[in-house]
Amino acid sequence: MKIGTPKETYEGENRVAMTPASARDLQKLGHECVIETKAGLAAGFADADYEAAGVEVVKTAAALWKAADIVAKVRVPNETEMKRLRANQTLISFFSPVADEDKMQAAAKKGATVIAMEMIPRISRAQKMDALSSMANIAGYRAVIEAGNNFGRFFTGQITAAGKVPPAKVLVVGAGVAGLAAIGTSTSLGAITYAFDVRPEVAEQVESMGAEFVYLDFEEEQADGASSGGYASVSSPEFREAQLAKFRELAPEMDIVITTALIPNREAPELWTEDMVKAMKPGSVVVDLAAEKGGNCKLTVKDEKIVTDNGVTIIGYTDFPSRMATQASTLYATNIRHLLTDLTPEKDGVIDHDMDDDVIRGATIAHAKEVTFPPPPPKVQ
Ligand code: NAD
Repeated sequence: MKIGTPKETYEGENRVAMTPASARDLQKLGHECVIETKAGLAAGFADADYEAAGVEVVKTAAALWKAADIVAKVRVPNETEMKRLRANQTLISFFSPVADEDKMQAAAKKGATVIAMEMIPRISRAQKMDALSSMANIAGYRAVIEAGNNFGRFFTGQITAAGKVPPAKVLVVGAGVAGLAAIGTSTSLGAITYAFDVRPEVAEQVESMGAEFVYLDFEEEQADGASSGGYASVSSPEFREAQLAKFRELAPEMDIVITTALIPNREAPELWTEDMVKAMKPGSVVVDLAAEKGGNCKLTVKDEKIVTDNGVTIIGYTDFPSRMATQASTLYATNIRHLLTDLTPEKDGVIDHDMDDDVIRGATIAHAKEVTFPPPPPKVQ
């Protein structure tokens, strides 16, 4: 099969879904690779690098979509790309079956197959294809770097000839994939790091990374807002109040707050209120990784950085992985290559779209003229 990657069309998107290294691996599976000219440039991969890896470079997006049997890209296709998608072609990209429902319906009607990277089941066997985790890991790391870039002090405490410097205090709210990456980055830079999550089972992980888990003064178990299948669910009003009371207590002390709290298929819970921002010291920074879903901080403006009247910087960027495009593209392209490895069991360039395979079935949202979302629950965890 011919696997093709176009240049991303979403404004400001620097990532690319195929790297020279992933293309080499795809060819070992018996596939041919084609890429649109300059598709990898913003991620640090030149056309010549692809050519050296045996990839055909075509001059236009139209030529790319025409040549490819399988189109691998990062962002959900725009309207022009949707027009280019054709019967019997397979598209692999981030594609939300809820937010992009119309496009999913249109693709199914055309007879195209769509594999949505968001929908890769989060089971052990599929971790190597879990692009959500790859990107969340980058976002968590980059959130700390971005915070540091906007914070006027060192993270680590120092005793210098010119005086004593206190360590920065960082609070990470939500200790999922992004939160844990932020905690690891923050502790490695030497900040005193605190973390909170409604899932008490993460306390051990948080502590093993050298951070302090924040416990609530709450009579029942901290598990009140916790888990359904490893994910958070909505907290009770009492639990939420206890959580907010604890955050109010911490706000004046924290130099940097990184919020990552999400509940699947819902708007982000509002956890860092206006009065907490007001209570923070001038020069403090909030990085809201939940900005895409409405934000955990009341004052977050999506895709912007604002500075409040009391001198607190609030960052609501939603493109953290794209800001580390080389790393993000390398991981994303590897996730896709692993998926294609499973789709090419004989390594002979022939795709076996096995709808009995939990991972392939789970991620396929359009196939054989049908919408195939939602999938049945996976048989194996
Ligand atoms: P997520 O992005 O959905 O949410 C981020 C974090 O926010 C979660 O830890 C959640 O508990 C927390 N949260 C929600 N409401 C909160 C609140 N009110 N206050 C504080 N924190 C709140 O999570 P994620 O990073 O996608 O991970 C979710 C789960 O999936 C975890 O258990 C993770 O270990 C698991 N996971 C499994 C696999 C796998 O097995 N392949 C891969 C990735 C993640």
